Amino acid sequence: MTVSLAMRCDQCAMSLPGGCTSRGVCGKDPDLNSLQEALIYGLKGTAAYYYHALEHGYKDSEIDEFLAKALYTTLTNVNFNKEHFIQFILEAGKIHLKAMELLDKAYVETYGQPKPTEVPTGTEEGHGILVTGHSYKAIYELLKQIKEKGLENEINVYTHSEMLPAHSYPVLKGFGNLCCNWGGSWVYQLKEFSQFPGPIVGTSNCVQEPLPTYADRMFTVSVAGLENAKHINDFDFSPVIKKALETKKLEKRENGKIVTGFHHTNVLPLMDKVIDLIHEGKIRHVFVIGGCDLPNSKMSYYEELTSLVPKDSIILSAACAKFRYNAKDYGYIEGIPRFMDFGQCNNVYSIIVLAAELSKRLGKDLNQLPVSIVLSWMEQKAVGILYTLLYLGIRGIYIGPVLPQFFTSNIAEEFVKRFDLRLVSDPKSDLKQMLSKGITVGN
Ligand code: SF4
Ligand code: SF4
Repeated sequence: MTVSLAMRCDQCAMSLPGGCTSRGVCGKDPDLNSLQEALIYGLKGTAAYYYHALEHGYKDSEIDEFLAKALYTTLTNVNFNKEHFIQFILEAGKIHLKAMELLDKAYVETYGQPKPTEVPTGTEEGHGILVTGHSYKAIYELLKQIKEKGLENEINVYTHSEMLPAHSYPVLKGFGNLCCNWGGSWVYQLKEFSQFPGPIVGTSNCVQEPLPTYADRMFTVSVAGLENAKHINDFDFSPVIKKALETKKLEKRENGKIVTGFHHTNVLPLMDKVIDLIHEGKIRHVFVIGGCDLPNSKMSYYEELTSLVPKDSIILSAACAKFRYNAKDYGYIEGIPRFMDFGQCNNVYSIIVLAAELSKRLGKDLNQLPVSIVLSWMEQKAVGILYTLLYLGIRGIYIGPVLPQFFTSNIAEEFVKRFDLRLVSDPKSDLKQMLSKGITVGN
């Protein structure tokens, strides 16, 4: 396990030059610093989901209070109790779940119940605008303003990376010019944005400084911002629409389809059938394989693992690493899709609802279910999801492609001991271990 051995804290005036790197004058040591950082990173993830809920007018006083309380505990000389911080981290997981639930409610009530949807990955003839990031509010406002200007037959809107599930929400899909998905995860944006002829809108995190080849076509909105791109204020997309009309049209090109938009409300009605298939041994195991993509060669683990998953098992996925393996034809087990994409990382909420339902119906603890969870993490929303799963009492989660560097060795050991947290290793041997868990489901 490669983890951070030292700390770097420079948050108060007692800091040594360049920061305290072993033990601060205040008494903070590297393990306490590690736990405080771990808590703060989870809070950042919750803030991201909560921000998108707030954008749609959805608030929650429990989330507000926890964010304030948890941040306060990390101030200098407030709390030196490591056990308190482990409990705060689990509480952060509970609050993160609440934020995911609130965001799901905000999206469903604003944009309708998502439905599994085939999304074309080719292009349509006409001008195009590409939207990346996570903000459905931004893509909704853009589509609405194009329509209000009577340009829906002139300008098509394309989704990139985590915007893909926008196609599955009826209100967004209702705009006939929400056309296709372009490219893969955020990791490849420099190349993919260079190749897109029209303007590009960055709506949230996972947007990078543009290359000179497309900087004049790059815009940001809301919390997103770049040094070399124009920022859109108050969701007024007039400059983006104007730019679209000035840029080269795309030609029609066929290029296959990918499916997104599974939501717990679509899958819950299939639960009786799934349980029958589990009892009959026709569904042997359920793999939750999802999370962030990142430019790390170890991410090939996830591609290999999904290709090794046996034919009598199903894969539930969410977030952007799926672009590494979502275009394959996984087929069906007696009508149940073997691969289901639930959407953005916050849609892990749907997977949690389904796991809880399966646990209830089978009368088994979550850890006894024939389910394995394999996360890839890059940023802090995924950290929050990990804490949610730990809060729910789930043990034996696989995480990768690397362990968080904000864990010291001692804290990493503590998480392994308490939660049986596992770092992904070799897909074949990990798979063997996963399949050995919870295969026998009693009647
Ligand atoms: S809070 Fe403690 S460890 Fe951090 S800078 Fe101040 S004295 Fe150093
Ligand atoms: S899943 Fe994570 S890495 Fe991927 S676009 Fe969303 S926030 Fe970024």
